[in-house]
Amino acid sequence: MSTTLDTDICIIGGGVAGLWLNARLRKAGYHTVLIERGALGGGQSVKSQGIIHGGIKYALGGKLNAATEAIADMPNRWRQCLAGEGELDLSGVRVLSQHHYLWSPGSLISNLAGFFASKALRGRVDQIKGKALPTVFNNPGFKGKVYQLGELVLDVPDVIQRLAELSGDSLISDNNPHILRDDNGEIAGIQLTGTRVRASRYVLTAGEGTEGLLQDWGVSEPAMQRRPLQMVLVKGPDLPPLYAHCLGASPKPRLTVTTHPCEDGQWCWYLGGDLAEQGVNQAPDQLIDQARRELRELLPWIDLSACQWTTLPVNRAEPAQSGLVRPDNAYVQACHNALISWPTKLALAPNLSDLVMQELTRQQVTSTGHPPLPPDLPRPRVAAPLWDACFQ
Ligand code: FAD
Repeated sequence: MSTTLDTDICIIGGGVAGLWLNARLRKAGYHTVLIERGALGGGQSVKSQGIIHGGIKYALGGKLNAATEAIADMPNRWRQCLAGEGELDLSGVRVLSQHHYLWSPGSLISNLAGFFASKALRGRVDQIKGKALPTVFNNPGFKGKVYQLGELVLDVPDVIQRLAELSGDSLISDNNPHILRDDNGEIAGIQLTGTRVRASRYVLTAGEGTEGLLQDWGVSEPAMQRRPLQMVLVKGPDLPPLYAHCLGASPKPRLTVTTHPCEDGQWCWYLGGDLAEQGVNQAPDQLIDQARRELRELLPWIDLSACQWTTLPVNRAEPAQSGLVRPDNAYVQACHNALISWPTKLALAPNLSDLVMQELTRQQVTSTGHPPLPPDLPRPRVAAPLWDACFQ
């Protein structure tokens, strides 16, 4: 026998997008249920580099485009939340770095004259020198230039933990939620083991899993695309903090490095950028060799001899675009009594929640008041940090 739970909004998928939205809806007075089939944040979110970027890396081509405009606001929005003054109270969440940096290893900066000439970048990119340099560049061997960006880097597992706390009793764990469809093609409910959830609106925030949910429902649009990456992880006892895009000859960063704390007190450099895009078709050992060569060339004074290395194949899930171009905003599409969404970037989770709230207002979906969820429902756990899971 199945019990039925009624709610205003049922969210499927507990990554950063679903959890942020859930917390905002609850704050706005909606009754919500969020269903997660694995661990909270365990999809792309805890595999991300945690950079709350304002679009600078997309401006490297020399001119600002829609992508840079859409996310320019996000670092401030997150900073307000971290200060306890924003739409969600994220005070206490660990900030790994107050700044992300751009670093040019040599004379390449001349190729980016258009980028630095852009008026829109004034006040958002500052060259730094001498004592202001991050310690990793404080070596006589370093001949490049470093620019400080108005972007920050967060400890994503900590963000997810805080968002889970803000979810109160609204989270349910079920390893195989099934969409029930009525004769009009609308979602009639979500069938879980022993429980059916019925809502005024359903929001799909299941990342890569949204594709399967749409198939389950029998809906073919919007289509999803995957952008595969193979990230490299380097763990060592003495790695200095490094949060930076290394510029290459193309508008895409040659390497993007973030640094994360491990449970055993060591630090992990997480390497993305062009290395991870180009590394998709390489065997892990081959990619690790390439990463070693890159770091030896770029930062030869850093001793990596005691480090452990591994790689992580992972997909970014986004709405389908022609030519696998990068979508430039959070994406929300209404379909029957559901909203289908992908944030496209961790940084854009607030933007996704804006779009959903606007759509609910437009559709005049209001809170109707439902009782609290029963206390004995299975609750999802928060995903373990990648740096602890990947080296085991
Ligand atoms: P996810 O985090 O994937 O969450 C989806 C959740 O839904 C998962 O918990 C999953 O278990 C659950 N789920 C799936 N199917 C079902 C189902 N059928 N039923 C119930 N639950 C289901 N963005 C940035 O802004 N900055 C960065 O530095 C950055 N770095 C990145 C680095 C990498 C390597 C990758 C892959 C992405 C990066 N991103 C970054 C992008 C960012 O991680 C994603 O855009 C964002 O995390 C997506 O969040 P989400 O909540 O939509 O999806």
